[in-house]
Order: sequence, then structure tokens, then C-alpha cells
Amino acid sequence: VEGTVVPGRLTWRVAGVREIRPETGRVKTLVLDVDGWPGHRAGQHVDIRLTAEDGYQAERSYSIASAPAGSLVELTVELIEDGEVSPYLTEELREGDAFEVRGPVGGYFVWDPSVGGRVLLVGGGSGVVPLAAMARQRAKDRDGVETRLLYSARTYDDIIYRTELDALGETHDGFDVVYTLTRSHPDGWTGYARRVDPELLADVAPADLARTYVCGPTPFVEAVASALVELGHDPATIRTERFGPTGGRDG
Ligand SMILES: Cc1cc2nc3c(=O)[nH]c(=O)nc-3n(C[C@H](O)[C@H](O)[C@H](O)COP(=O)(O)OP(=O)(O)OC[C@H]3O[C@@H](n4cnc5c(N)ncnc54)[C@H](O)[C@@H]3O)c2cc1C
Repeated sequence: VEGTVVPGRLTWRVAGVREIRPETGRVKTLVLDVDGWPGHRAGQHVDIRLTAEDGYQAERSYSIASAPAGSLVELTVELIEDGEVSPYLTEELREGDAFEVRGPVGGYFVWDPSVGGRVLLVGGGSGVVPLAAMARQRAKDRDGVETRLLYSARTYDDIIYRTELDALGETHDGFDVVYTLTRSHPDGWTGYARRVDPELLADVAPADLARTYVCGPTPFVEAVASALVELGHDPATIRTERFGPTGGRDG
């Protein structure tokens, strides 16, 4: 109805592209300045809407990569070669361009420092994005929650935010990172070199987890969540975010 006040998170807002930062060969971070951004919690996502000159529109969801910081919102997008939207965002978009965003969306897959125990973050591929937001929030607030990130990437060069994650892991404030590389690994690699499986999770997941956040392609999320339950972790402690209808692609 014309004149109706739409609640904030449902409003499409203009997002100006402040900066575009390459992360890996296939992944870029977009730093957006969002008009009237209401703020967000680590783990939430936005919907974005692109409008072509002929009026054609495409919408997709992207996790917010950054901890809350005024009107700035960072998204990290992986190029899916045969995709419609991600090639535009990673290859065509330029600083100074604008598109629309709506959000923040989601109140379930969010960082919660009051969880009262250890936390495990498990990410496959670009599924690390909302988990990185959580790690950034945690570091910024110095909330001291004992947190381990298990991050599955295809190769060493596909590890998004590697320098920053390694640095966070070296601060000895209760955060550490464990990588597994599923396709190839550098000479002398001493980390895991296979897909996340129940044995790997048994090694890496502390027994007394208060909460686990799992994010990535749907088959990755389902495999990890069921392995955790198989290992005896309480399903009520496991929160998941699925990135899409993908079969066969791994993290
Ligand atoms: C809540 C949520 C958060 C998300 N956060 C992120 C994020 O932080 N970063 C990010 O890069 N993506 C994220 N995604 C995925 C994103 O929404 C798009 O699905 C992705 O960018 C592909 O869009 P596309 O238009 O390029 O491909 P499409 O044109 O939609 O699809 C092209 C082909 O790629 C396959 N495909 C679609 N999505 C994926 C995928 N995620 N992985 C592999 N294959 C896929 C399709 O099945 C199809 O075969 C998120 C999705 C959801 C639901």
C-alpha cells in the first residue's frame, strides 16, 4: 500500500561500492557503504538486487563478512563461472558503482558470546565468510569465547582471509584455526589434506562443545552436521547455514 512504512530490514537500500579487494584468484571482497544501514550481528546475511538497463532484476543472498562498523558492510563473493550474479560482482563491478541491498537477514546463525562454553566454526569454501565475521566480532569485543575454526578449502591459495586468520590464531586469546585442503597442498604441508570426515572431526572437535556453526555448500553442511551428531554432539548445539543448491562442488 502506498505510504505504508516498511520495517527497516525489508527496505531495499542503495549500496555504494567503496572498495573492491581481491582475496584469492576467484574471490573478491566488496566494501559497501549502505545508505541508512541499521547495523547487523556477525553471521547474518543480506539479499542483493541487481537491475539491468532493460529492467531485468536478479537477487541473491550474501553473508556479511565484516563485524558491525557503521554504514560499512563487507561481502566476500566467490566466482561461480557459469553463474549469473557472481561473475558480475567479481569481474564487472567497479568502485563507485551501486546496487541494492536488503537486510540484515537471519537471527539464528549469529554469534552469541553468552553461549557459555567452547565454540567450533566449520566452513567449506566461501562458507567461511559468516564465520570470519564471527571471528572478527569475537576479536573486536575480546569476548574470550574459546573458539576453533575448521576451514576446508580446495588448495592453499584458495584459503580466503588466510593472513588475517593466521594472525588471529597467533594472538593466543582462545582462537585457533585448523585447515584441511581437499584438492592439493603445498610441499611440506603438515595439516589435513582431505574432505572433512567423522575421523577428522573427532580429532578437531572438542568433546564439550557448547555450540557449532557450520556453513558452506549444502552437501558439505549436511555431511558435517550428521558426522557431529554421529560423534555424540547434541543436535540442539549445531547451527547451520547452507549456501546453495550445489551438488558435486566441494570446499
Ligand atoms: C544465506 C546465503 C548466504 C550466502 N553467502 C555467500 C557468500 O558469502 N559468498 C558467496 O560467494 N556466495 C554466497 N552464497 C551463494 C550466493 O547466494 C549465490 O548462490 C552464488 O553467488 C551463485 O550465484 P550465481 O548467480 O553466480 O550462480 P547461479 O546463476 O545462481 O547458478 C549457476 C550454477 O552454479 C550453481 N551454484 C549456485 N550457487 C552455488 C554455490 N554457492 N556454490 C557452488 N555452486 C553454486 C548452481 O546450481 C548453477 O549450476 C550464499 C547463499 C545463501 C543462501
